[in-house]
Amino acid sequence: MRILPQRYHPTADDLTGLVSHPSDFTRNYCIVCQSRFRLFTNAGKSVPECEFQDEITSSGRRPYSKCVWCRSVERHRFLWTHLSTQILKEKEQIRLLHFAPLPGIQDRLVDLPYVDYVGVDLTKQNVDANCDIANLPFGDESFDVVICSHVLEHVPEDVKEMSELYRTLKQGGLH
Ligand SMILES: [Zn+2]
Repeated sequence: MRILPQRYHPTADDLTGLVSHPSDFTRNYCIVCQSRFRLFTNAGKSVPECEFQDEITSSGRRPYSKCVWCRSVERHRFLWTHLSTQILKEKEQIRLLHFAPLPGIQDRLVDLPYVDYVGVDLTKQNVDANCDIANLPFGDESFDVVICSHVLEHVPEDVKEMSELYRTLKQGGLH
């Protein structure tokens, strides 16, 4: 029996993907946490007043879209696929800044010997620093790669925050 790290906090909804006949256990695979299980579980909320919810990736109520182990949804698995096949493929030593990390992706990046990983969040625990994206405690051009996904739509002054990201990114770096 696999023991979940406490910070993953599965919900009752998540458990639907774990209850199955043993022969069914390996039907689905999560590229983020590298787990096999019966079903992805449900994610998102239905927003009937939004006429485009079914046309926007990762919006609306989405059956069978969330990993039962690491709780990744489509955007996380897409991000990890892009990172692992396009950004990290050269295996060069890089310094990487990651905002509001999903624990599953954070765990994968921390495990890579060629990545000097710095995870930050405004309030979360299990990161290297708690800080405001508008006032980062890092010098100019400190990072080769900055990951900031699903964050800027929640901040009050996105232009100011983006200029702070740009300040910390090395010339030729990737955001
Ligand atoms: Zn997973």
